[in-house]
Amino acid sequence: MVDLHVHSNCSDGTYDPGQLPQLAQTLGLAGLALTDHDTISGNDEFLAAARALGMPALAGVEISAAYVNPDSQRADDGEMHILGYFPRWDAATTTNLTPLATMRDNRHERNPLIIERLRALGVAISYEDVCRHAACDVVGRPHIAAVLLHKGYVKSVQEAFDRFIGDHAPAYVPKRILPQRTAIEMIVHAGGVAVLAHPRTLRLKNPRSLASLLEHLCACGLGGIEVYYAAHTAGESEQYCALAARLGLLITGGSDFHGAHKPELALGRGFGNLCVPDECFTSILHHQQPAVNPAAVRGSHKE
Ligand code: AMP
Ligand code: ZN
Ligand code: FE
Ligand code: FE
Repeated sequence: MVDLHVHSNCSDGTYDPGQLPQLAQTLGLAGLALTDHDTISGNDEFLAAARALGMPALAGVEISAAYVNPDSQRADDGEMHILGYFPRWDAATTTNLTPLATMRDNRHERNPLIIERLRALGVAISYEDVCRHAACDVVGRPHIAAVLLHKGYVKSVQEAFDRFIGDHAPAYVPKRILPQRTAIEMIVHAGGVAVLAHPRTLRLKNPRSLASLLEHLCACGLGGIEVYYAAHTAGESEQYCALAARLGLLITGGSDFHGAHKPELALGRGFGNLCVPDECFTSILHHQQPAVNPAAVRGSHKE
């Protein structure tokens, strides 16, 4: 069993990236990937901790991208998440991912607008409170929800989303995010495998719609689909698996562990019954071309 969808406190999880491999090992997991929202800042610490323990680990990211509904062709249909997995983690990889910094900057423009809307609703929290609470550079709604909870404005994180900051609630402000092609191409150019995260959340009723979306994403460079996910039903996982086979996509899966920000989700097990096969981890490793520099190979041959 492996877990390929995990957040740390470099975005909106609550564990240090360096603590996660130990936790995974205690649970008997055979592989782990770190996939923080729009940042790769935890990967070095994560990989070093995993290496020290002998825990197989992959550097990763989860990028928010603009979602264009394949039926309506409207560009304002919200966001989709693209996971990136990087079997090779070196300076070239991280350099190719530097455009992610723009997304984090965009959040610092968006969050004060949410705070302003909250003020108008009689909720007086400051952005400084939220940033202090987040202690990272990917500041998002879960951090705002935690401050609302801490200050007693709500009794649960869920109430914060339902009453104030959920997608259809009065203080919601959308994020500026990347076009889907840009997100996928950034991952692929960095030598990674791009994977459509939790397809269920796109709420595509018609299976044909998901197929046409996937065909479009494949043309952009998509390499896989998250088949196993805490909130997927067995029927949905089966449907996604069949689509993966038809389109030649890798199959991945994970819990979307966020630590105390989503206490109902356990590392590895999700809501309790998740079991992502080890092959999901190894197939990502093997999907990648070996890191061979042709010039170096030629240079190492003595005539
Ligand atoms: P942001 O990236 O700042 O828009 O925040 C997105 C995060 O908020 C995601 O990790 C979601 O899990 C969480 N989130 C979004 N909507 C809800 C909701 N209705 N209830 C609980 N968490 C939510
Ligand atoms: Zn999150
Ligand atoms: Fe996600
Ligand atoms: Fe996630």
